[in-house]
Amino acid sequence: MPTRIPVGILGATGVVGQRFIQMLEHHPWFEVAWLAASDRSEGRPYKEAARWRMKTAPPAAVAEMTVSTAKPEGAPRVIFAALDSSIAAEVEPRFAAAGHAVITNSSALRMQPDVPLVIPEVNPGHIKLIECQAWRRQSNGFVVTNPNCSAIGLVMALAPLQPFGIETVVAVTMQAVSGAGYPGVASLDILGNVIPYISKEEEKMEEETLKLLGQLNGSKIVPAPFAMSAHCNRVAVEDGHTESVSIKLKNKPATAEIIAAWNEFRSDPQELNLPSAPAQPVRYLENVDRPQPRLDVDAGNGMTASVGRLRPCSVLDWKFTVLSHNTIRGAAGAAILNAELLKVRGYLD
Ligand code: NAP
Repeated sequence: MPTRIPVGILGATGVVGQRFIQMLEHHPWFEVAWLAASDRSEGRPYKEAARWRMKTAPPAAVAEMTVSTAKPEGAPRVIFAALDSSIAAEVEPRFAAAGHAVITNSSALRMQPDVPLVIPEVNPGHIKLIECQAWRRQSNGFVVTNPNCSAIGLVMALAPLQPFGIETVVAVTMQAVSGAGYPGVASLDILGNVIPYISKEEEKMEEETLKLLGQLNGSKIVPAPFAMSAHCNRVAVEDGHTESVSIKLKNKPATAEIIAAWNEFRSDPQELNLPSAPAQPVRYLENVDRPQPRLDVDAGNGMTASVGRLRPCSVLDWKFTVLSHNTIRGAAGAAILNAELLKVRGYLD
């Protein structure tokens, strides 16, 4: 196998950090070479510091690695980040200033005007914003972000509909407990229950959706011009965020045109044959009771968004359901696909 690019993981012991380690185990381009987490984990072997929650065993070489402190000294250039956002706000700029390519899940810098928020199938051109970052000019470092785990499923369903002219979107989420990290929500709060509040989630879904579907104009993103409202709920599901969506479209496509737009949607990752790109980024399920997290969350190795239940809406034009895997397409897999796009565009050289 040709030499792989060494990568580090900030927040390696958490839910998303573990998913990075699992997904990178057999990656053809990237190799995990450095792990960092909090003071609680620093200096300990990874196998002792992490409460491993993936369904496959941790790779032996990673299990024996010592967890480092979250400082740039000694870290590889390419860093995948999965830190709590309050910590990321301090740590990620420090790594970028020291010349690292920071590819992050955290919300800390997503809405910063010179930081690209990218889904490679949707807005690959936005990575050019990197050139506007002072870190890039001064040290060749930069930060690229992927969206909130609910925004990504919604936007993958909306992007193929953009040619029909999106005017209004209302989305109601049913979000898995793994989206809250580990240990996350207390079992007594979530078992047999629905929690109709996730801190800052509705704001993130609304603003990130408009940035993702916006247009790059010189050094800034002009947000998409439609109205958007989100309601976010936590439910007792392990993995997979399900969303009920209503949408108003300027043009009036037929049912078959909308379904074809989803099923035929392809973009740069498929054309470039990126290693983590699903063959079909969005798939439409005809069964009336799909998609369901238990049955459909792993479609395309967790990288495909599943859509179903398209039907007329008596308030807006159409309504449908979308499901995506929150720690794969919504987190680690999204960042790895961003890194693959950055590599083929020459940003990791
Ligand atoms: P998590 O399970 O709580 O993990 C948090 C990680 O951050 C752990 O590795 C923890 O290390 C580390 N950490 C905490 N305080 C630190 C500090 N002061 N310095 C360095 N490291 C520190 O959270 P998660 O679910 O993996 O989420 C990580 C990030 O990804 C968050 O910003 C989250 O919003 C985002 N995200 C999560 C999902 C999801 O579905 N879970 C999806 C999209 C985005 P210790 O183990 O040593 O404490």
